Amino acid sequence: MMARNKKLLLLPGDGIGPEVMAEVRRVIDWFDKERALGFDIEEGLVGGASYDQHGTPLTDGTMDLALECDAVLFGAVGGPKWDDLDFSVKPERGLLRLRKDMDLFANLRPAVVFGPLAEASTLKPEIVRGLDIMIVRELTGGIYFGEPRGVETLPDGTRRGVNTEVYTTPEVERVGRVAFELAKKRRGLLHSIEKANVMESGLMWREDMQALHDREFSDVELQHMYADNAAMQLVRDPQQFDVMVAGNLFGDILSDCAAMLTGSLGMLPSASLGAADETGRRQALYEPVHGSAPDIAGEGKANPIAMLTSYAMMLRYSFDMPEEAGLVETAIDNVLAGGLRTGDIMQTGKARVSTKVMGEAIVAELNQVAEAA
Ligand code: NAD
Repeated sequence: MMARNKKLLLLPGDGIGPEVMAEVRRVIDWFDKERALGFDIEEGLVGGASYDQHGTPLTDGTMDLALECDAVLFGAVGGPKWDDLDFSVKPERGLLRLRKDMDLFANLRPAVVFGPLAEASTLKPEIVRGLDIMIVRELTGGIYFGEPRGVETLPDGTRRGVNTEVYTTPEVERVGRVAFELAKKRRGLLHSIEKANVMESGLMWREDMQALHDREFSDVELQHMYADNAAMQLVRDPQQFDVMVAGNLFGDILSDCAAMLTGSLGMLPSASLGAADETGRRQALYEPVHGSAPDIAGEGKANPIAMLTSYAMMLRYSFDMPEEAGLVETAIDNVLAGGLRTGDIMQTGKARVSTKVMGEAIVAELNQVAEAA
């Protein structure tokens, strides 16, 4: 009942975006029918699809809808058809505007290894089996946005390139709070990542995280780690981590590194969260990590699991429904254990299936899991 009036905006986008979103629709319908979990659903255009219709990758109307909704589910944008467009109207600009106007400052990237896919990692299965870590990356500050920036030509004709790492205490604290809250709901361990040994802004980050911990989150264990060591530890012994929080640059690199521990791009979800309002509601956008995969678009080959686990993240983080999220994740795990694979995660001896067959199998498995629960 609680979710009756929750509003979702679906933005399938381009390429395989609409194909994987169609499978989310199937799961949404299942929850509606079996669990009376009815969302009010709006659907909009983004990326090249929006450009073709409206001459812009995101209309003001769709942007307003995104701001009004409780959560946005985003597929993927881009493709060769739009590669030659001016930068200001490129499909990717639609996503950048959503992130900017919704002020999505915390990017959550889980790296979870589904048991049946432990062999697909480039690391030994015993290192990654059961892996479940969450990387929280600051998304709107740091060196990608800091001033001064640019390249200048010096009097001697050589050039000088500058980017600036800048964080304020409120910026550190707001992403820190998201990470501490997550750790509280998980195993209660947070690693804060910086280079306090060589960067003043890194030392400030460390001090601010420690102060926030001591003031508000002393029930969570906080560890500080240098970014270079964190990269090494991630591939040496990733299971030592629960939640990691880092600035934009280190978070970018570490989340990609952690992602590859899990095997395939087609399996990786993400969430981007904004500030909480007085009612606790946050702007939130959920999307698979992968792009629009033009090389396989329209062929029914796309793996819908990253999109489906993005939906599960939405249930967990926007609507506080861990049980329902768990149902989806367990159904996926069981279907993989049963041997179904899309092409990207194909292994010898398994059955190669289409996007639709994978989606249908996961919904059929939802019935089994729900009955057993
Ligand atoms: P991509 O993620 O689209 O594809 C990389 C490779 O992984 C391709 O071989 C693709 O077939 C495969 N792949 C990706 N997702 C898959 C899935 N769900 N199932 C099976 N295989 C999958 O990255 P790219 O090729 O670098 O970019 C293609 C287009 O997507 C570009 O226009 C790029 O700008 C855009 N892009 C968009 C986003 C986004 O919308 N968030 C992210 C990355 C790239």
